[in-house]
Amino acid sequence: MAPATDPQQADVIVVGSGFGGAVAAARFAQAGFSVVVLERGRRWEPGDFPRRPSLDDGWLWQVDHGLYDIRWLGGMASAQAAGWGGGSLAYANVFARPFDQMLDDRWPLHMRRGALDPYYDLAAHMLEVTPTTDDPRTGGPAPRTALIEDFMARSNIPEATARPNLAVTFGDPDQWRPNVHGVPRRGCAFVGECVLGCNHGAKNTLDTNYLAVAEAAGAQAVTDAQVDRVERRDGGYAVIASTPTDPQAAPREWVAPRVVLAAGTVATTEMLLRARDVHRTLPGLSRRLGEGFSGNGDFLTMAELRTGRKAAAPPEDLRTGPTITTNVGHGLPRGQRVRLVPGPGRRHPAGAA
Ligand SMILES: Cc1cc2nc3c(=O)[nH]c(=O)nc-3n(C[C@H](O)[C@H](O)[C@H](O)COP(=O)(O)OP(=O)(O)OC[C@H]3O[C@@H](n4cnc5c(N)ncnc54)[C@H](O)[C@@H]3O)c2cc1C
Repeated sequence: MAPATDPQQADVIVVGSGFGGAVAAARFAQAGFSVVVLERGRRWEPGDFPRRPSLDDGWLWQVDHGLYDIRWLGGMASAQAAGWGGGSLAYANVFARPFDQMLDDRWPLHMRRGALDPYYDLAAHMLEVTPTTDDPRTGGPAPRTALIEDFMARSNIPEATARPNLAVTFGDPDQWRPNVHGVPRRGCAFVGECVLGCNHGAKNTLDTNYLAVAEAAGAQAVTDAQVDRVERRDGGYAVIASTPTDPQAAPREWVAPRVVLAAGTVATTEMLLRARDVHRTLPGLSRRLGEGFSGNGDFLTMAELRTGRKAAAPPEDLRTGPTITTNVGHGLPRGQRVRLVPGPGRRHPAGAA
């Protein structure tokens, strides 16, 4: 279908409003570029996130454009949030820096801690990260946090627990206060629903920081715009998007000298593979595109708690707190058991940037 109207012009088109897209949009807009951000999903406000038991009721992107886009990719599954704020809407808020000893000498210097720390500091400021606090309603740590800390303290394994930095607002759960970017947030209510989307308004999702900064600096947000095609045009790029909630609507088109593809690992790769092999609009892309994927090391498991208490004793509620409140640094400081290695591409000699 031909685009409905003449293409809109911008200096920069950003595709996707997750972490990559939000940071790019904010910094380009602050630098004075005209920026358009195209996001396939909707805006989600506190109270909008699905809670009904049916999976068909607001949960899945594949059913009425809900929150989660779950895909089975042969031997791997991919979970991604869809909406203004991307993965931040559904992630577990953990702001972790890799142990430097885990980045072996194949990592280029500009991707190691020494070079990256100032940027981690900046992102920590923007996202307002802080370790989890005690639950304001009980005055103590969440029972789950205390349990793991106590367990490790009494074990004979010389490993440490740490409370990770979280992009969550703590404090009075009943009071809205502006964050450093002027967006109202409430203190965490310790309901353990971070990865379901925070209906309380305590998560420091990207719509409340980087994207708010981008929009304040003039970036134009276009939600419900799914980019289907990217092509070269007049020395720059044309980007063509459909409307997920109205498949019959005519495609819309934007042109710009710069395009930032930040639709997430799977969707961005898919977009580029289509441009290379289906639409043949970017034929020069590498033949290696789409190779070398690996999961990010997540391993989810269930734990059964046996406290030895008498049946009459009320069990502590292990569901409270933010989703993740404790880390166990199992062998990590020595870097012997787990190594982060770059993908199977070119080796970078030690010291090369
Ligand atoms: C349950 C869960 C918990 C997690 N917890 C953590 C954590 O605690 N800490 C941590 O660091 N990381 C965590 N992650 C990982 C983190 O969320 C991702 O690494 C991060 O979101 C990736 O950012 P991104 O910008 O690449 O893509 P995303 O954040 O996924 O953003 C991509 C955006 O592009 C949009 N999009 C996709 N296709 C198109 C298209 N064709 N046109 C227009 N828009 C499109 C999507 O809707 C989405 O909004 C978690 C992830 C999950 C799923």
